[in-house]
Amino acid sequence: MNTEAKEKRLQPTEADRRHLIGMSGGCCNICRLRLFVEGQFGEQARLGDDAHIIAASNAGPRGNDAVSSALKAAAKNLILLCKVCHSKVDQQPIEYSCDRLLEIRNEHYRWVELSLGSIIIEKPKFHYLSYINIPRADMYAVVNSIALPRVQTH
Ligand SMILES: [Zn+2]
Repeated sequence: MNTEAKEKRLQPTEADRRHLIGMSGGCCNICRLRLFVEGQFGEQARLGDDAHIIAASNAGPRGNDAVSSALKAAAKNLILLCKVCHSKVDQQPIEYSCDRLLEIRNEHYRWVELSLGSIIIEKPKFHYLSYINIPRADMYAVVNSIALPRVQTH
């Protein structure tokens, strides 16, 4: 019996698709091509796909029949890619394993957050600076003819 015929392929929900686009900043997670463009006459084009990390089909690249159709269609199993990167990923499933794609996606999501400034980089706290070696800093300044700022004592 052909198990492929019994396999039910689910589509991602609209909420999952929006989540994927939002987290990806509308860009391909590999080459960062902007995937949603508008031409000079206002025509919109979508240049990418919601690519599956574990293939939607058991026979597809990175297929896994132990994973349910619902999980395969969920946002956590999708990565936003341009058409070229999608083809490359599906034709090179060894190079682009599930783990590698998850790594690429995580790096991309972090890049989007950094680009939008939503990751707050902590300023160094005082206790990080408590081990500065003042005599060495003075010696370095003298050897390299650098004028160090002096603290007013009174
Ligand atoms: Zn791409």
